[in-house]
Amino acid sequence: VTALDREQMEGLKSIRAFLKVRTSYDVLPLSFRLIVFDTSLLVKKSLNILIQNGIVSAPLWDSKSSTFAGLLSTSDYINVIQYYWQNPDALARVDQFRLNSLRDIEKAIGVTPIETVSIHPERPLYEACRKMLESRARRIPLVDIDDETHRQMVVSVVTQYRILKFVAVNVKETQMLRKPLKDLPTVGTYTNLATAFMDTPVMDVIHMLVKKNISSVPILDRDGSVINVFEAVDVITLIKGGVYDDLNSTVGDALLKRSDEFPGIYTCSMHDQLGTIYDTIRKSRVHRFVVIDDESNLKGVLTLSDILEYTLLEGEENE
Ligand code: ADP
Repeated sequence: VTALDREQMEGLKSIRAFLKVRTSYDVLPLSFRLIVFDTSLLVKKSLNILIQNGIVSAPLWDSKSSTFAGLLSTSDYINVIQYYWQNPDALARVDQFRLNSLRDIEKAIGVTPIETVSIHPERPLYEACRKMLESRARRIPLVDIDDETHRQMVVSVVTQYRILKFVAVNVKETQMLRKPLKDLPTVGTYTNLATAFMDTPVMDVIHMLVKKNISSVPILDRDGSVINVFEAVDVITLIKGGVYDDLNSTVGDALLKRSDEFPGIYTCSMHDQLGTIYDTIRKSRVHRFVVIDDESNLKGVLTLSDILEYTLLEGEENE
């Protein structure tokens, strides 16, 4: 064990201690808006509302029973796409899908149902993180009980990004994480990477996202250099307005549909330290890092869940 290892471990312990004494409430800004979808909303309308508001997910509310009905996310739209792909003659039916039909769609194509995990906003952040890691959720709804009506109340949704940014802003010990990625082989994925080319049919890439349960696929040129990343959220603009024709196009065409606000992709190298990665998270709304070498060749993928998992669990089993 080197001094670098000891310092790294100390840094991780500081972050964990911080997450255990803070709650989800602490992460929320003083004022914020929350868009909640009634489960009777048409799927195609929900898409437009997401796009108009620049968001990619929303909690669902069943107004018949006045209960929280799970979190709508890009994987639900991907399920609709798969259903349509398997039943191309059913476009008229797909057009009339409401959010409460999503469960039937999921049953029909045999995938795991809509995410229903949630947490009370006053529970420690550490617990919210563990729940997300266990359920592989990228975000978790905060659900409280209203004192007067004793009914469920969706307060907000916290994402992995928001929590990691909160850590990066508030825990200076993130700077003690000085081991380079090349010495941290368990952080990130470096083998069996799912990749595609600009001329790969976009449906092939969507199938990859589902099969590997991942949220992005690096796009390479013929020399193996990374030129872009197709993200699960890109499917939202692809089927905007309930038009499914674009599913027959290539990744390259699909990426042209991105909004002008697309921030670009983030890369890092095997020489970068997690401290530097946390710096980038503090400064920019990043969802993943594509790990490349000096020639821009793909080496791996480092996602927020990889960072969160390492930050919370590395070395824990030995204690
Ligand atoms: P997150 O859960 O943070 O949104 P992903 O769902 O994309 O991230 O990643 C889940 C796991 O799959 C992570 O361990 C990540 O390293 C790995 N992974 C992500 N993208 C790919 C890919 N294109 N090929 C192989 N593995 C990937």
